[in-house]
Amino acid sequence: MNEEDNWLHGEQVECPACHQLLYRVAHAPFYDEHFLYCERCPIHVEVSYYDSVYKQLYKQVRQEHALSQTGGVKALMRTIEEHLKPCSCGGSFRHDAPRRCFTCHTAVVVDDASDVDLWRWSAAFLADDSKVADDVLEDEERWHSQFIAGEDKWK
Ligand SMILES: [Zn+2]
Ligand SMILES: [Zn+2]
Repeated sequence: MNEEDNWLHGEQVECPACHQLLYRVAHAPFYDEHFLYCERCPIHVEVSYYDSVYKQLYKQVRQEHALSQTGGVKALMRTIEEHLKPCSCGGSFRHDAPRRCFTCHTAVVVDDASDVDLWRWSAAFLADDSKVADDVLEDEERWHSQFIAGEDKWK
């Protein structure tokens, strides 16, 4: 993999506790969703930019902050966090919660976790796009979807 192909800074990491292989990657800019992660388990919630509640919160925060500034983005994230229901495990969703191992729930990405996503490692991530069979990627996504919170996310 050369630097150019690796523009999301994908990196194989190993869980320090159970040695499960994981894939750490920058949150893809082409997603039109924010991911917020549970502070206690590997589940995350996905908030679409087109979600009506999100749009409302965005408008509300924009009246007080310039969202191009770091402080504004933080304020937006805090506002989203306050409006989300807790995770099924009882934890709260935070944009900067540690990213956790899917197997043993150990915190793997702790510092600067915002804008980082964690996947289970798959050889598919190393392959050239054109060579990855769709069913392999679909399998990965189906497996991963068990760690996405349900649709009914707002308080
Ligand atoms: Zn682990
Ligand atoms: Zn949880």
